[in-house]
Amino acid sequence: MKFIATKELGRLVKWLRILGFDTEYFKEDNYSKLKISALRDQRVILTKNTRLSQPRGIKLVQIKSDLLNEQLRELFQELDIKPDKNLMFSRCTLCNIELEPVEKDKIKHKVPEFVFNTQQDFIVCPVCQRVYWAGTHWGNVSQVIKEIMLR
Ligand SMILES: [Zn+2]
Repeated sequence: MKFIATKELGRLVKWLRILGFDTEYFKEDNYSKLKISALRDQRVILTKNTRLSQPRGIKLVQIKSDLLNEQLRELFQELDIKPDKNLMFSRCTLCNIELEPVEKDKIKHKVPEFVFNTQQDFIVCPVCQRVYWAGTHWGNVSQVIKEIMLR
């Protein structure tokens, strides 16, 4: 399932990408363009804008909460989906592009020495070249996932 989210949902966009969902961030106010984009790529529209009406042929989810955990829960309940563990941490949170494995030696100058010495697996965004690794870099992701799933 793919998403396109309106500008007030920046934090949710980042988290959906972390969870592995192809999520476009639409920062403009041009709603006809938004609908065209959603239709073209078969994306579900996510918005907090209550003036945005349900367009024909496109699924739209109105997000009510201001809290990230609640927003994720609302979304998963509404669409009856769950994040897939195998897809988590596979997408650049900035570019929405799938990350690629990279040889450790090639990123030596791009990560802190401590990280280089303690981590084995690194992945890189082919667009912005940002390097990702397991552990601290993704912050409290697993905690948030746990909280969403438990309720
Ligand atoms: Zn990137």
